[in-house]
Amino acid sequence: MEKVLDIQNLHATFTIQKKDYEVLHDISFSINRNETVCVVGESGCGKSVTTLCIMQLLPNNGKIQSGKIVLDGTDLTQVNRKEIRKYRGKKMGMIFQEPMTALNPLLTIGYQMRESIMLHRGLKKKEANELAISYLQKVGIANPESRLKQYPFQLSGGLRQRILIAMVLSVQPDLLIADEPTTALDVTIQKQVLTLLNDLKKDMNAGILFITHDLGVVAEIADRVVVLYAGRKVEEGTTEQIFKNPKHPYTIGLMNAVPNVDLDEFEIRPIPGTFPNITEDIPGCRFNPRCPRAHECPLCVKEAPETVEVEPGHLVACHLAK
Ligand code: SF4
Repeated sequence: MEKVLDIQNLHATFTIQKKDYEVLHDISFSINRNETVCVVGESGCGKSVTTLCIMQLLPNNGKIQSGKIVLDGTDLTQVNRKEIRKYRGKKMGMIFQEPMTALNPLLTIGYQMRESIMLHRGLKKKEANELAISYLQKVGIANPESRLKQYPFQLSGGLRQRILIAMVLSVQPDLLIADEPTTALDVTIQKQVLTLLNDLKKDMNAGILFITHDLGVVAEIADRVVVLYAGRKVEEGTTEQIFKNPKHPYTIGLMNAVPNVDLDEFEIRPIPGTFPNITEDIPGCRFNPRCPRAHECPLCVKEAPETVEVEPGHLVACHLAK
């Protein structure tokens, strides 16, 4: 299988009041073509920081300290800020939670789509217009010609998200990054957008990095899952491995925190304790203050666990995993 994205031992920090705090610690995972990898975890776990590192859009106080982000053979950490613009849009496209952040409210959909296609695919205006229409059709938009004449504010949230997907896909990126793209949508539209991304995956021949905190969405769309906690990768595996045989106490906690409507007793068991602040120094495993199994191993409060492969492709960072 051909790797589109390969993140190797990524370390990133944020500087707060002249002190560096680690927000990503030794993150590694890859995405193949025609594969959707979901990165999950609570707010602040490092999901969005990972995407900002890939897009080279970290805020001024953020820095990649070490590691590689290889996109189609190029290490993006070695590409300067000017050059990286060529990769954004053309090689990697991004779908945001709120499509209005990516669409210009003052320009028509048609103008925005044509400009992007002309810039990234080198087509003339007429051809770019035809391609824009065909991509709007691909994402299931009726009357595409009239939609091209509209402004973003004239469309519903679901339609805007579809248009953004069409716009991103029309330049044929190798990697599609979707950061909580369905969170702002109501449930039926959410379902439509997920089905659409699933359907388009093979057509696109791209890899999809999907960021979400919603395990229902993960079950629906992921081929593989990466679970992050406090800037560390704690578990990685196929969707089946993670859902049927979760090994890390944090992943198990996330599963238990989802309501199961199939059970007679409707029970949600939230993970106890609070998510650590990046400035907090926690010796040993960062999950130990909240872990129901920390008492089983004296190393939990002393040493950070190493990652072990518990079955082919199923990685767990926990002292008890072996
Ligand atoms: Fe819990 Fe210890 Fe495993 Fe960390 S290493 S998840 S504290 S059992």
